[in-house]
Amino acid sequence: MNKSLSEVISDILSYHGALVEETDGGCLEVLCPDSLSSALGFKEHAILCFSYDKTGREAIYASYDSELFKAMAGLLKNKGEFSAVSFRSSLPNTEKLLKVMHKKITLNNATFRLENTELKSISYLLCYFKYIAISDEKHEGIIQVLINELNLSAVPFENGGVRLEDSAEELKDIERHNLKTVLQSSYFAGVGITKERLKEFIKSLERRLNRNIRRVHEYYETLKNEAIIAAQKKAVSIEDRPIKGEEVDELLKKKINAIETECKWKIQDLITKYSLNIQIEPVSVIRVETQSPVFWINIKRRLATRSFPITYNPVIKQLDALPCELCFNPTKPYYICDDKLHIICSTCFKICPDCGKQYCGVCYRKGCPRCNVRQ
Ligand SMILES: [Zn+2]
Ligand SMILES: [Zn+2]
Ligand SMILES: [Zn+2]
Repeated sequence: MNKSLSEVISDILSYHGALVEETDGGCLEVLCPDSLSSALGFKEHAILCFSYDKTGREAIYASYDSELFKAMAGLLKNKGEFSAVSFRSSLPNTEKLLKVMHKKITLNNATFRLENTELKSISYLLCYFKYIAISDEKHEGIIQVLINELNLSAVPFENGGVRLEDSAEELKDIERHNLKTVLQSSYFAGVGITKERLKEFIKSLERRLNRNIRRVHEYYETLKNEAIIAAQKKAVSIEDRPIKGEEVDELLKKKINAIETECKWKIQDLITKYSLNIQIEPVSVIRVETQSPVFWINIKRRLATRSFPITYNPVIKQLDALPCELCFNPTKPYYICDDKLHIICSTCFKICPDCGKQYCGVCYRKGCPRCNVRQ
């Protein structure tokens, strides 16, 4: 289902014009055009290996922490040069799609109706991101996000079997958001997809953190109890002597304070140790140009309306879901905001913890408009 790193690198190099063949030892033999080999800093003919022990005199190390991997991210910098491929597929049955569309779009506080259907040239970006998640363990990998440039609907792309061809003819008049917006949205989607991919790891991290916090608590509770018992014994033994009971109380108070402070520090250490830092960075982008049916719907929220394109995605052979215009990795159902009619998913249509008002995270990125407590 998920591609291995060598498959992803093989894809990226092929899209940039290289001939790539897998060798017996799991390495890649690559024949590069000049432009690519100079961008990546190796000779026209190279062997790429993915573990240190296979890296010999001739082979180049190409795993996540390699120089080559960083150079591949550099392919992106020259944005005009990212690859464009075209994708043709037979057109789907529009009637069936319309039925699916009415089931698939679930708006919690608005209605919609079909306005118009047209066959349109559209494009997607297939974005490869590398992620590194660091906590007490390190996890890394590659995720692929396929994002529609017309409506910013994004999906994790896991179908490796799709054959994309170099553009034979250029499609004209493709309506799309500007590249920065699309890349940013795919990045947000990538963060969400990475968190989903790491779901089990995050759960086990929380489990281990909670277990250790409980242990630390129990340990310091025992210390506190022992201190109290010792103080009680002391109070009994000094009853006839000049030290007063209040002094013992005072000493006990200090001791308990010291124990509690140490406990807090220990817990803080644990939280730091188990905190999760996820970094994701783009590795490569391929633009996929295609022709597809587009269904323009009219979304109605109270008296306001908004026209929005729903697209059929020929690469995954499904209708694209509505995007969430905040996280781009939506959880159904959707809400439509009052002010600008943004499409927001259930997770992102936030409820302010202070006043309970529900508000749109796209309109109010700084927090609840009523309290405006979060900066
Ligand atoms: Zn969302
Ligand atoms: Zn509020
Ligand atoms: Zn809004």
